[in-house]
Amino acid sequence: MKTIGLIGGMSWESTITYYEILNKETVAKLGGFHSSKIMMYNVDFAELEENMSKGNWDGNAQILTDAAVRLEKAGADFIVIATNTMHKLVPQIEEKINVPILHISDATADAIKRDGHKKIALLGTKFTMTQDFIKDRLVKAGLEIMIPDEEDIELVNSVIFDELCLGKVFDSSRKEYQRIISYMKDRGAEGVILGCTEIGMLIKEEDSVLPTYDTTIIHATEAARLALA
Ligand code: GLU
Repeated sequence: MKTIGLIGGMSWESTITYYEILNKETVAKLGGFHSSKIMMYNVDFAELEENMSKGNWDGNAQILTDAAVRLEKAGADFIVIATNTMHKLVPQIEEKINVPILHISDATADAIKRDGHKKIALLGTKFTMTQDFIKDRLVKAGLEIMIPDEEDIELVNSVIFDELCLGKVFDSSRKEYQRIISYMKDRGAEGVILGCTEIGMLIKEEDSVLPTYDTTIIHATEAARLALA
């Protein structure tokens, strides 16, 4: 079994789901007393959030590179970054380590293509929805990506940072997300990527009129598969 280097804490709420899935997948494959070999570096999300709001991405690259280097030195076979948004910094982190990073978008694209979908809605932080670091990778994999209208981008983003990352889950926000997903369906989306690792706290498969692709579940399941391959 390979050892997973998990960079968590972004937010810690969603890292719990990673930890749970990694172990459950390991038991499902190996049975008995087995559990996942994980080394976790849990960052202080307040530092990253402050850097993001100031546009200090170099500061965040430093924090995450430091975490990845420590995990590699400690013996991690590959790195899992438990957030979509920080995948913006993958190129900088990769320059400083020799073990691979399991990219969150690759397994997501594979899952969508396996289901035969092409036109897909993407929900996530404002950075994820409006910048190219996740979208480009999905487009290169052959998908067509739709994002919400400007006002709804703000809404989706503020629910993530003002509520979900603080552990708050409100019905009123679920209804807003459901409205946005329905709107994207009307515009031709065949599925929706829950492209922020906290959205699964708010939207489950049964809450959505479109098939959901929860990046937390997909990424963690793929990490477990890779560790056991
Ligand atoms: N967990 C979120 C994501 O998947 C947002 C928090 C962050 O900025 O890392 O994008």
